[in-house]
Amino acid sequence: MGYLSHGEGQKVLKHFNHSCFRCGASVLCPVSGKIKYMGEDGKLLVCRRNGFPNTRNYLTIDHIIPRAQGGKNIRENYMVLCWKCNNEKGNKDPLVWAHRYLDGDRLKEFIGMYLIARSQHGESK
Ligand SMILES: [Zn+2]
Repeated sequence: MGYLSHGEGQKVLKHFNHSCFRCGASVLCPVSGKIKYMGEDGKLLVCRRNGFPNTRNYLTIDHIIPRAQGGKNIRENYMVLCWKCNNEKGNKDPLVWAHRYLDGDRLKEFIGMYLIARSQHGESK
């Protein structure tokens, strides 16, 4: 399935300061400070806070270009979103999503990331 390795996932999280790219939510465990990875429904889920089982309050590693649109499991195509923001993004066209949900520097930054991810598309693996 091409899940991230633990180390690679950590790098992505660190790059995004352990917080949702869109809303800034951070759900690092305040008790252990540890991050747990769980593969679920094709997503890599990160750190349920102190074992909170009944909420959807966790970070995910999202595909900038959705896999349904051919996005690859490569680092350039990963970003961190909380569950809620990931759900809003879903399989929307990334640029449509970005223009609706991001503004200012965030939007510019996203477009930069998108173009880099996009540029990886034509390369054979
Ligand atoms: Zn969010």
